[in-house]
Amino acid sequence: MLKAFAYRIYPTKPQLKGLEEHLNRTRELYNAALQERRDAYKKTGRSVTAFEQMGSLVEVKEGRPEYRRIHAHVLQGVITQLDRAFQGFFRRVKAGEKAGYPRFKSKDRWDSFHFKQVWDNSRDNWFGPGKPVGSNRIRLPNIGDVRIKWHRPLAGRPKTLTIKRDGEHWYAVYVCEVEPQPLPATGGEVGIDLGVNPNFLVTSDGEFVPAPHYYRKAEAKLRRQQRVVSRRKRGGGGRKKAVAALKRLHRKVRNQRKDFHHKTARKLLEANDVVYHENLSAKAMSRSRLSKSILDMGWGQFLNILYGKAAEAGRRVVGVNPAYTSQICSGCGHVQKVPIGKPYECGACGLVIHRDVNAALNILRMGRGVYPSADGQGLPLGESGEVAHARRPQKPPALAVG
Ligand SMILES: [Zn+2]
Repeated sequence: MLKAFAYRIYPTKPQLKGLEEHLNRTRELYNAALQERRDAYKKTGRSVTAFEQMGSLVEVKEGRPEYRRIHAHVLQGVITQLDRAFQGFFRRVKAGEKAGYPRFKSKDRWDSFHFKQVWDNSRDNWFGPGKPVGSNRIRLPNIGDVRIKWHRPLAGRPKTLTIKRDGEHWYAVYVCEVEPQPLPATGGEVGIDLGVNPNFLVTSDGEFVPAPHYYRKAEAKLRRQQRVVSRRKRGGGGRKKAVAALKRLHRKVRNQRKDFHHKTARKLLEANDVVYHENLSAKAMSRSRLSKSILDMGWGQFLNILYGKAAEAGRRVVGVNPAYTSQICSGCGHVQKVPIGKPYECGACGLVIHRDVNAALNILRMGRGVYPSADGQGLPLGESGEVAHARRPQKPPALAVG
């Protein structure tokens, strides 16, 4: 399996120039290659292939000698990246989804370049780019030996290297092939209901993971700083400074959020063999557009981390259809509307339970594929995953179960 390891790097001034040159040239190449595909399509109705564009890199180097200062793999990587953007576009079109045609990249939207091979498999040794030299430097072709902070050891076999800018910080991200390290089985399975406030998630075991405070505080700060930026004049020095401050804030929030997601995921997987969650897109769609964009980021990243860690630990993470998870009674299968902010009070069996715990229990049961009723018989699931209503018991059971 693949795992990413990111390290901060500290370029000198000349090295910084080299890095920026790499960003500029790769962005220019991306946009030019995109233009070529657009033109070709307009003129002939067929697109240029990645293979053809890779082939013309030789000519690019002849016409523009500055491109010779960029490693061939980096240039090929740009073409691959564009090709992926097109593949994604065509796939979405085919699937009938909303699909934006690949766009030209502005300076603000271009902050990394890639070396597609850092390990020589035939010799089982470093291929070149990103090779550690001495104890605290890595070799970047045409840039130099850049200082790096190895805050944790690189593990497994490195495959690719991405050099990334984040505000004024730079990072080297190695993607490595690592052996999974299975955790011992616990026999535990859990359903989780993802939320925003006050809880980030609630489990079917009745555990509450509150949304951390810094999260909300930082988001308020971000909004304030965003307003500062929009008040400043375009192109002015004040605006530049404000934008830099905003980027720093964003990075801080991002890192804090990521840490929190890692910790939360680790805890869930240590205690459980299987984690069931709601499929995200459907849940997010039920929210307003604004909250959706905020939430997608948080939930999507958390689930990515959860899936990644699970693969590494030999655990399972399963998405279920979120239909009716908040309306079904986890005790008897009765379906009813629940007023916002109130606990779930079942009109059929009398069960009173925290609404999010109720939802998490439903997610757990749907994930297992059977929805047990109070009489222990189990209700079969309908095709879309919700309880088949026709099989609901006619009489409410006498006992409430939690
Ligand atoms: Zn009930």
